[in-house]
Amino acid sequence: MGDFYETFDEDAEVAARVLGIALTSRPMGRDEGRIPLAGIPHHQLDRYLDQLVAAGYRVAIGEQVSVPPSKGGEPGLVERRVTRVVTPGTVDHGELLSERGHNWLLAVAPVEGGRRWGLAACDVTTGELELQVVDADALPGEWARIVPREALLPEGTDAPVASGVRRDTMLTSRPARDFRQDRAAARLAERLGVAGLEGFGLEGLEPAVGAAGALVAYLEEMWPQALAHLRAPRAVRGAEVVYLDPQTRRNLELFDTAGRARDTAAGGASLVEALDRTLTPMGARLLRLRLGRPLRRAADADARLDEVEAFASATLAREALRQALRGMPDLERLLGRVRAGTAHARHLVQLRRGLERLPQAREAAARAGELADQAATGLGGADEVAAAIAAALDDDAPAEVGDTPTVRAGFDAEVDRLRGLTTDARDALAALETAERERTGIGSLKVGYNRVFGYYLECPRSQAEKAPPEYEARQTLANAHRFRYGPLSELEADILGAKDALADAERGVLERLCAQVVAAGPGIERAAEAAARLDVAAGLAVLAVDQGYVRPELHEGGPLEVEGGRHPVVERQLPRGAFVPNDAFLGGGHADLVVLTGPNMAGKSTYLRQTALIVLLAQCGSFVPATRARIAVADRIFSRVGAQDDIAAGQSTFMVEMLETATILHNATERSLVILDEVGRGTSTYDGLAIARAVVEYLHHRPGGTPRTLFATHYHELTALAATLPRIANRSVAVREEGGEVVFLHRIVDGGADRSYGVHVAALAGLPRAVVSRARELLADLEAGAATAAATGAPARQPGAQMSLLAAEDEALLRALADLDPDGMTPMEALQRLYDLRAQARRRLAVEG
Ligand code: ATP
Repeated sequence: MGDFYETFDEDAEVAARVLGIALTSRPMGRDEGRIPLAGIPHHQLDRYLDQLVAAGYRVAIGEQVSVPPSKGGEPGLVERRVTRVVTPGTVDHGELLSERGHNWLLAVAPVEGGRRWGLAACDVTTGELELQVVDADALPGEWARIVPREALLPEGTDAPVASGVRRDTMLTSRPARDFRQDRAAARLAERLGVAGLEGFGLEGLEPAVGAAGALVAYLEEMWPQALAHLRAPRAVRGAEVVYLDPQTRRNLELFDTAGRARDTAAGGASLVEALDRTLTPMGARLLRLRLGRPLRRAADADARLDEVEAFASATLAREALRQALRGMPDLERLLGRVRAGTAHARHLVQLRRGLERLPQAREAAARAGELADQAATGLGGADEVAAAIAAALDDDAPAEVGDTPTVRAGFDAEVDRLRGLTTDARDALAALETAERERTGIGSLKVGYNRVFGYYLECPRSQAEKAPPEYEARQTLANAHRFRYGPLSELEADILGAKDALADAERGVLERLCAQVVAAGPGIERAAEAAARLDVAAGLAVLAVDQGYVRPELHEGGPLEVEGGRHPVVERQLPRGAFVPNDAFLGGGHADLVVLTGPNMAGKSTYLRQTALIVLLAQCGSFVPATRARIAVADRIFSRVGAQDDIAAGQSTFMVEMLETATILHNATERSLVILDEVGRGTSTYDGLAIARAVVEYLHHRPGGTPRTLFATHYHELTALAATLPRIANRSVAVREEGGEVVFLHRIVDGGADRSYGVHVAALAGLPRAVVSRARELLADLEAGAATAAATGAPARQPGAQMSLLAAEDEALLRALADLDPDGMTPMEALQRLYDLRAQARRRLAVEG
């Protein structure tokens, strides 16, 4: 409304609360009382929109779509219309948008009673559309990979995906008919401007087409312009990619480290942060896309490795390419703005600056060899449009057509003519001012302008009597009078007319340019894709050179052999050279399953993760942190590491551990890589040991073959299995004892470990000295074969003063606690047990006095 966006009624109350803006009110009409009102200046829309959307609201924007009646004219109604609804999945700029990541709007459609799901993910800022079909059990993993900002579900089907949904995803229910495949295919084809979808290679992806139809229908309602930017769908096929389930994704800390922030030493960077050397937003997004979805076929990953290698070995070409890419703006999103009609002149100038760098990038890439040159061919498609923008638009064009020039002088005859008129008119104003001063003798007479009165003459109050009769009084201020004057009004009409006409002419030029950009859209898209691809390849090459990574040799089948492997993230957190490299050999003639034992803190988890990450990196098409790597590509990578509570879902730590283990046992094949860290830790020793052993045996005996497995455990008893099961080997992390001190060597050696050094670590962690020394005593007892005595709570040999507390009664209490089985209790039983225990404890304390 004029210069403001206003909200009314309940909306106003919400806006005032969420945005911290003033809540006022205004009369509603005759006798109808007042209505709450809260508004924001129109130029601050973006900022406030961000806040509303971030707070979980959908925001409908109503614009004035007819020209408001001009001032002084008849008051009339202005036509207003909702032009757009902004939701988390449809924001196209502002702070909510991560520059280096996608902003996915996902639609999911169940088929076959929810056994399979069609997925369509669209980023309205880049126009990308991805289609895939997954089994129900892969849905949470894909959901976790995509991290949608908003998801569309057919009415009544939110339950099946609830477990994979992050709290910050907005769920939007849509009519089931929107997901119907026949309608959807027609709808999508129409949007893509084709007769049918046959040409896109979407066979088998019909359920996903249904989901895409729902996406299109949604966007048609929310923001039809966004569909102008929709690109040809990309098929994602399960046979081509490695699915990572949510726990594996989390455990390997590919994209965030949320679960590990408290896990001090290795806390901090995620894998992508450690790897990312890209220089453009397009490259950064592509890298994330690739890391989330390793390739299943050796040949596919090899093709990417070829590109990395080309740049790894051509230092000068690589640096020249990066010089050209550095600071390149987001071509995809700029094009998106132009297509959606939200671009202004500055965006076009930015786009041009980006496009102008492409020839330089192309030339540099060509110097890195034939392959890089091929990858760079796409960069060539957008030169003409860059030149057109350069010719037309001023480098400093303002955001909105107005006082400063948008169109360059000499580009458009009409613009030049009108600009001349406005300058002439300004000269004429100055001339009129001088002439009137002389004529009237009012020395300080001046021409002024305001929006209400237009141009006027102003003279100080003291000289007002000198004003000639043809000056028509308009306004009297404290110390000045303002007048209307015929010739000035005529000039005003000329000036305003010329200004409006100039603005219209400049807008016309902009529109024609935008149309040209839209026509060149496919070329710009190809250029952006090529730039992204080169950026990723060159970035990975820089990483490889800087960090000493090697090209992995990829095979379908055979062994996994890593020599001198390192953890890409932990390595960077230690002083250079401090990380101890380790080998890993699994399958293809080596043992298929390695039982890894060793002290706490020795580096078992690090070793497990680094092995999985090396395989993952290789299959994403990156060099790997090792001195040599021969990798049998994995069909899936599984990991179960550490303890993760899922209290929100009502599951105990141990339950989560078992659920994750179950997933692995059901799905791992002989071509999978499995890393299991301390299975069974979450329950009593005997239960845990029994489960751990049964899991190892199950994996070993798996009918199709043993998955390549690294199994880290504290149960040294498991090292005995290698004696009877042929495909198992024992390895351990070496330590050295020096004068009572334990030194962690972080080196993996053959054979099992016989000690945990847990007490040592406890001392390092600063447990009270009394506890540590008592623990040493008990440990000595246990090790001396006095296990029975210690376990039944018989007094220790020479109990120290504090330790006499461990009287029989305390022991009984502890035992009762230790024997609790929370997973097997109802909440009522648990509460009752708690009361009992408390009563017992209170009795005991009373005795102690
Ligand atoms: P726990 O059994 O207590 O979980 P762990 O054996 O799994 O311990 P990690 O968490 O892998 O031990 O490693 C502990 C710390 O040791 C790491 O944070 C890291 O700082 C260091 N570390 C691990 N591996 C290496 C290595 N290869 N070279 C140098 N330091 C290492």
